[in-house]
Amino acid sequence: MLQENQQNKTDVIVVGAGPAGVSAAVTVARGSKNVVLVERGNFAGAKNMYGGVIYSHAAQEVFPNYKESPIERFVSTHSYVIMSENDSTTVSYKNPAHKENAFIITRANWDKWCVEQAINEGVYYAPNTLVKELIVKEGKVIGIRTDVEEYYADVVIIADGVNSLLAKQIGLRKDIKLKNVFMGVKEVIKLPSEVIDQRFGLINQTGCAMELVGGPLKDLFAMGIIYTNKDSVAVGLGVSLEDLKNNKTKPYELLEKMKKHPFVADLIQDGELLEYSAHLIPEGGYNCLPKLYTDGAMVTGDAAMLVNNVHFEGTNFAMISGKYAGETALEALAKNDFSQNILCLYKKKLDNSFILKDLRTYKNVVKTLTERTNSIGYYSNKLNEFLEIFTTADGVEKKGKFQKFAKHFFTKRSLAELFKDGFAAVKVMFDILK
Ligand SMILES: Cc1cc2nc3c(=O)[nH]c(=O)nc-3n(C[C@H](O)[C@H](O)[C@H](O)COP(=O)(O)OP(=O)(O)OC[C@H]3O[C@@H](n4cnc5c(N)ncnc54)[C@H](O)[C@@H]3O)c2cc1C
Repeated sequence: MLQENQQNKTDVIVVGAGPAGVSAAVTVARGSKNVVLVERGNFAGAKNMYGGVIYSHAAQEVFPNYKESPIERFVSTHSYVIMSENDSTTVSYKNPAHKENAFIITRANWDKWCVEQAINEGVYYAPNTLVKELIVKEGKVIGIRTDVEEYYADVVIIADGVNSLLAKQIGLRKDIKLKNVFMGVKEVIKLPSEVIDQRFGLINQTGCAMELVGGPLKDLFAMGIIYTNKDSVAVGLGVSLEDLKNNKTKPYELLEKMKKHPFVADLIQDGELLEYSAHLIPEGGYNCLPKLYTDGAMVTGDAAMLVNNVHFEGTNFAMISGKYAGETALEALAKNDFSQNILCLYKKKLDNSFILKDLRTYKNVVKTLTERTNSIGYYSNKLNEFLEIFTTADGVEKKGKFQKFAKHFFTKRSLAELFKDGFAAVKVMFDILK
């Protein structure tokens, strides 16, 4: 066995070349320290999937040249689709100037591009390398054990994603409860670029991000997504594992139903299925945060459960938390102190940033929403029913239709439930604004 002070020792080891890991590694390299980025996949992105949006603020902060990456489309349109069984209502925000806010890119392309930038800046990259465990000596993390060897470092940054066996190994994290994790499933469907432009109302290679609720997803804590690539469309959904278990539903069955909804079916008609993928999403939010550092190690991105599920923000949390972990490692190297006394700086940086501020703001929101899941289906149906009446000209007097609608509104759902829904809505607003 190699000793920690021999040839297999470097300043920093980062485990996982997703958005968190690559951001941590490139930050360390920019501080002129030695850093090894270890990835189990045969190329960065090989094992990764997500919805499709990278937020420009984070990309700019870590890779200021991000516009040179193989971007599919900039997001100019953000739509929210409220479905009932066969109809739907769309609220769409369109702002050509807003398109710098986010862009659509595939993970295989984005992760690979980021790693190439990191290598150019001095990161030593080790793909095809599965880290089996962390090496811990006298309570301190001092290295990693792979299939074939042991490597040592002053600091190990854990960026191995949602399952993070490594954070669990050293007791920073417990097993995730079913209610705190979503299953994400996604299909990529090939369509000609001009067909996508026409169906989604896009011009000049701008793109569209959509979130969908209700309809086939009603009564579940679930949300659909549709993102436009250059010449394909990503259609997927995220659904609570607890709801899947309780409802004895399978995620791909839900996706099939969602694809058959007229709103979605029209958008993907005659498309060719290119790929199918599935991945977990940490959904616990602030209440489920693990301890973020220990002697010799920090945990970042999904491994640290840093995701704002209400806004579908994960990659920006991963990139910025990775950057902060990298900066903290540099600080520790400068002081030659790798204990929690210095690594706690990482938590302070997160505390002062949008990451923990936003997670704190939404701390109780998800819990409130999960308790009222069945309301989403009810109000989605009612909204569509109302708009059907409102937009129908059939020679029948409107007053009677509105009276019938109002009567059903108050009789199909008990007053107690309506009161609870109203209370939940006020509570969500209060929690966000207080
Ligand atoms: C369906 C879905 C849709 C999403 N949509 C969006 C979206 O549109 N926008 C957004 O911002 N976020 C989205 N997210 C969330 C986002 O994908 C994650 O928050 C983000 O990828 C987290 O980055 P990460 O680097 O922490 O982890 P990951 O991206 O999971 O990267 C972890 C890396 O570690 C490697 N690894 C794991 N274990 C080991 C090991 N033992 N040894 C070596 N390497 C290892 C993996 O191969 C992987 O490359 C979505 C997620 C899903 C599942």
